[in-house]
Amino acid sequence: MEDKRLTLAIQKSGRLSEGSINLLKKCGIKIQNGNNHLKANTSGFPLEIIFLRDDDIPQYVADGVADAGILGYNEVLEKDCKVNTVYNLGFSRCRISVAVPRNVDYPGREFLAGKRIATSYPGILEKYLAQHKLSAEIHPISGSVEVTPALGLADAIFEIVSSGGTLISNGLKEVEIVMQSEAVLITNQNMSEEKSALLDKLLFRIQSVQAAENNKYILLNAPNDKIDLIASMIPGMKSPTILPLTMEGWSSLHSVISETDFWQVIDNLKEAGAQGILVIPIEKMVL
Ligand code: ATP
Ligand code: MG
Repeated sequence: MEDKRLTLAIQKSGRLSEGSINLLKKCGIKIQNGNNHLKANTSGFPLEIIFLRDDDIPQYVADGVADAGILGYNEVLEKDCKVNTVYNLGFSRCRISVAVPRNVDYPGREFLAGKRIATSYPGILEKYLAQHKLSAEIHPISGSVEVTPALGLADAIFEIVSSGGTLISNGLKEVEIVMQSEAVLITNQNMSEEKSALLDKLLFRIQSVQAAENNKYILLNAPNDKIDLIASMIPGMKSPTILPLTMEGWSSLHSVISETDFWQVIDNLKEAGAQGILVIPIEKMVL
C-alpha cells in the first residue's frame, strides 16, 4: 500500500539545514526525533523527512525515494536530474562565480581559454564554457577550491561566493558572476495524485509564510478629507478598513503594506497627511 505521507529530503547538516527546518517550523511542521537519524517523523503534517548530503538529494527525488527535496538551485543544475523545480524559497542565497588571483590582469572571459579551472561544479562550468565557445581544463575538486591557485594547481576557480571574504583571504578576485542561487523546492516528476494533493497543501503553507514575511500590517490616523487618497496608496488585500476616531473629522485606516517599496510608501503616506503610523509583523497571510 502506498504511504499516505509525503517524503521530503533535506540537507543533513550544512548551510541549508537551518533554513529548511525553520521553514518547516513556520509551516507548522515539527521534526520529531532530531537529525541524527536518516529519517524523522513530523507532527503537524503527513510528512516524513530524510536527511541527506545535498549532493544526493536530486537523485533521490528523481528516483522517487523522496517525493520532494530542499536544496540549492546550484546543486539542482549541477546534478541535472529529472526533477521539477517548483518553488524558490528565498534563503541560502549565493552566486557562482569565476575568480582569479588578485594580481592577474583579467581582460574578459576569453582569459579562461586553455586555463586550468578548479571547481566543485564541473557540470555547470562545462555548460558555461560551451555556451561561450571556450575550451579549458576543468579540475573537479570537492572542498577548499579557493586554495588551488596559490598551490599552483589552477589558474582560476569557479565556485560559490556569498560575502566574498573567502576569496579575499585567499588572494583572489571575483571576475564573472555566472549564476545566482537560492534554496528551492524540487519534486519528483511522477507523483501520485494523492501525493500531488499533499504537495499542493505544503506549497500553500509555504506561500502563506512567505506572503506574511513580505508584508506588514499598517494602522494610521488621518483627517477624513485625506482618507481616499491614503487608501489608494495602500489598497491592502481587498481594500483597507476605515474606522471613525472619537475625535471629530478623523479616521483610522488599517491595511497591508508590501516590504518591497515600504519606505517610499511610508514617505508618501506622511506627505498625504497620515499620522501615528503603526507597522506590525504578520505571522501568516492566507491568500
Ligand atoms: P553536504 O555535506 O550536504 O554535501 P556541502 O558542503 O555540499 O554539504 P554547504 O556548504 O552546506 O554544502 O552548502 C549547501 C548549499 O548552500 C550550497 O549548495 C549553496 O546553495 C548554499 N551556500 C553555500 N555557501 C553559501 C554561503 N556562504 N551563503 C549562503 N548559501 C550558501
Ligand atoms: Mg554537497
